[in-house]
Amino acid sequence: MRRPLVILLVTLVTPVAVVAQSDSAPTPDPIAQLVGRLDLERYKATIKGLTAFGDRRQGTDRNRAAVDWIEAQLRGYGCSNVSRLKYDYQPPVTRTGNPPPRDTSRASGGGRYRGIRARTGVNSDSLKQPDARVRALDAQSSTAGAREEVYCTKIGATHPEEMYIVGAHMDGIGWGEAANDDGSGTALVMELARVLNAPDVRTDRSIRFALWNNEETGLNGARAYVEQRRALQGTKDEPKWLGMIQHDMLLFDHGMPRADGTLAATQRPEADVNIEFQTSSKFAVQAQQLAWVFQVANEKYATDYPASVGSHMTNTDSAPFQDLVPAISLRENERGTQIGAGWDPNWHQPTDVYTTYNDADFRLGLNAAQTTLAALAGLTGATIK
Ligand SMILES: [Zn+2]
Repeated sequence: MRRPLVILLVTLVTPVAVVAQSDSAPTPDPIAQLVGRLDLERYKATIKGLTAFGDRRQGTDRNRAAVDWIEAQLRGYGCSNVSRLKYDYQPPVTRTGNPPPRDTSRASGGGRYRGIRARTGVNSDSLKQPDARVRALDAQSSTAGAREEVYCTKIGATHPEEMYIVGAHMDGIGWGEAANDDGSGTALVMELARVLNAPDVRTDRSIRFALWNNEETGLNGARAYVEQRRALQGTKDEPKWLGMIQHDMLLFDHGMPRADGTLAATQRPEADVNIEFQTSSKFAVQAQQLAWVFQVANEKYATDYPASVGSHMTNTDSAPFQDLVPAISLRENERGTQIGAGWDPNWHQPTDVYTTYNDADFRLGLNAAQTTLAALAGLTGATIK
């Protein structure tokens, strides 16, 4: 009976010795270091840079100029592996007659509305934009035809053949500056491209940073990507997709509308980042697991705002991916039950301009960036040389 005791003692003692050794030379957490390279002022500056192109409506010169500008920034960040996806966009022929009736008591994506709802819609009246400069910037109308969207890729050091796709849409509507929808998500993806493509950062697996076009017309840019590239997975051109993470509207969580339809003027103290997966998708189980990885990353690394997980991801560029890979989205509110119930009064409105938001708003977007950066760094095995 003596031998087992010796083995037991050895197994008990050995870990203690290892811990004692690493105590003398603690390894800094690379994820915390990477998250520390995000910065509120830089994030704001990137959003501001995007608003120089107004609402960036698809099929306009300002949209094409914004794609060029985003590409130049990505190259400047060292994400030199840049490509453009080309596709054709023809707006659908307007239907005549009454549209099929829709159950307005159920939220888009499958959720259930609670509490007070305020009206939502898309502004198409230029005169509702009080700022003549913005009105002029947004004046050119969209023309059907050839479209481009830009993406760049961080190549994995040990598994370049597998990648996560991190996305946001760069086009907008509503006669504002699309500062929140979706300058906030586009800037987040660009800031992550900056941090993860720094010369001293290494990842095991690849990461693709995609700035979709034509989201506002029905996810056409993301759909074109899926159609053109899903069959290429596993070739040198297209690493295998491990997951898709979309970012759409990340600044404004002022709570539920009041009974008179108005909203609080400032970010609510309970503001959170909403991580959603779609429970009816083919990859619902894996997408839910991915969502919880992001929630845990938020809890550990995000500085100010928590994250919540929901099951009704909808109306965003991760939808075309959801039956092919685990797909999630990050937002300021749940898309169906909250945005759909009027929780963001600037949504597709002339008020979606940079000056509408203050630091408490921008900080919610920064916390979403911290969340995705931390989760991705863990998933792809990021280290700092
Ligand atoms: Zn959007």
